[in-house]
Amino acid sequence: MQGKYDFDLLVLGGGSGGIATANRAAIYGAKVGVIEAKDLGGTCVNVGCVPKKVLWNGANLYQQIKTLSQDYGFATSVDNLDFAKLVEARQAYISRIHTSYNNSFNNNKVTLINGWGQFEDQHHIKVTDAQGEVKVYSAERILIATGGKAVYPNIPGAELGTDSDGFFALTELPKSAVIVGAGYIAVEIAGVLNSFGVKTTLVTRGDRPLRWVDKDITSELLENFAQQGLKHLGNSEYTKVEKLDNGQIRLVTNHGNLDSDFLVWAIGREPNTSGLNLEKVGVELDDQGYIVTNDLSETTQSNILAIGDIVRLPALTPVAIKTGRMLAERLYNNKPNYHFNKKSYIPTVIFSHPAIGTVGMCESKALETYGAYDPQSNPNGIRIYKSKFTSMLTAVTSHPEKILMKLIVQGPNEVVVGLHGIGFGVDEMIQGFAVAMGMGATKADFDNTVAIHPTGSEEFVTMR
Ligand code: FAD
Ligand code: NDP
Repeated sequence: MQGKYDFDLLVLGGGSGGIATANRAAIYGAKVGVIEAKDLGGTCVNVGCVPKKVLWNGANLYQQIKTLSQDYGFATSVDNLDFAKLVEARQAYISRIHTSYNNSFNNNKVTLINGWGQFEDQHHIKVTDAQGEVKVYSAERILIATGGKAVYPNIPGAELGTDSDGFFALTELPKSAVIVGAGYIAVEIAGVLNSFGVKTTLVTRGDRPLRWVDKDITSELLENFAQQGLKHLGNSEYTKVEKLDNGQIRLVTNHGNLDSDFLVWAIGREPNTSGLNLEKVGVELDDQGYIVTNDLSETTQSNILAIGDIVRLPALTPVAIKTGRMLAERLYNNKPNYHFNKKSYIPTVIFSHPAIGTVGMCESKALETYGAYDPQSNPNGIRIYKSKFTSMLTAVTSHPEKILMKLIVQGPNEVVVGLHGIGFGVDEMIQGFAVAMGMGATKADFDNTVAIHPTGSEEFVTMR
């Protein structure tokens, strides 16, 4: 190899952020290496977004066959679900994604280095491969994109439960499950298991899951839980976990003992910094262990950069990818001011049953920020528009399901600052509305847009 260093850019972690940055930098001629300890694709592809969405689709199909298909005239049943076959199809799909990542690395001349990396100094990474062989690589710049991992509670028996990785390792469905947590992962796993007919209990320490989501939306979610038989135990405290003689796992709580075949902790994730030797190279962490970066993704050592779940930004794949691509544009395509705008709208979907889509502020946050609208005393305040109706998919059946949509508009011009929905199809509705909101769309802009009929999304442009 020529030059002072082996690489222009060494990326530590071949997940969503690392891969996106590596490919974009290499396209502009940078010599790039990616160090990955496990499977290429990281959390999202292997134990996150992708396997989750496949199971979510499967669970939706299960429910549609069970509750809707008869009314649509089909004589089908879910009795013979072959869950192992679904898992096999899911893993085959993931393998194809691995192949496509390897192909893009080959096409872009990115070098993949398999092994566990840790800093030797500011420009050198020591990599230990699966056979224990050690090599040291040097680079002008090093990007840390090592993602995060699940947190376990500090109580006796916690290890008897598993985390989302353990959920994705299932090849057969348990008969019953207890999911502890209140975020995306808890709600999504509980929803999938319950929809597949597993007797499921969701345990939250607060009164409801997804406390950062608009309250009308989560109230609707809780109504759906009740209709679907997903048991929710709010205001829960739990003290220990025990293994019972019959093989079940007992979670001891203030609501009594919860015995089940499968216990999942989904109480948050923490950044993957242990073992990287960051203290040796002077890369600072914040009080929660995230790597401190400036707007340009530089750590406290300017040749060492960090993106993705390792920094304190929303832990979402598109955020990791966008930050990484913008970094590559800045460093290798002469765009010195390119960086991720932390204030931009970040649309997000929770793949619950039914899905929740949300962009911008929830009502309580908007009220706290602007107050309620009053033409005289507070013309900059907020107003609310809502619509609740039965989804057309279910309206013709004996299992009607509601869609709730909500707009939060601010000021005399009614700028749309919050857009939220729960129900069939909202997951595919909100992306375009996020574009409009990013451009400063007002309620009048929404109203001036011709509706698409008959769809659910038309409600967003016809609300009164
Ligand atoms: P990761 O994708 O986690 O990649 C980090 C990589 O670094 C891993 O491959 C790891 O093996 C490797 N690594 C770590 N340390 C080392 C080391 N020392 N040496 C070598 N390699 C190392 N986001 C969404 O936007 N939509 C979703 O639907 C969604 N669903 C999710 C579901 C679940 C269950 C989970 C857990 C997460 C989900 N996320 C979702 C979040 C998303 O997966 C992450 O935000 C995203 O993967 C972060 O990308 P990253 O590049 O920062 O890290
Ligand atoms: P989150 O941080 O989203 O949620 C964890 C929640 O668990 C907390 O908000 C808290 O809620 C609750 N909690 C915290 N500590 C405890 C405790 N000791 N006991 C009980 N409950 C506790 O974490 P997740 O692990 O669900 O997800 C991590 C991130 O991954 C998400 O934030 C998201 O960015 C990403 N993700 C995205 C998905 C998507 O885009 N669809 C899907 C899955 C993950 P409370 O305070 O109310 O108790």
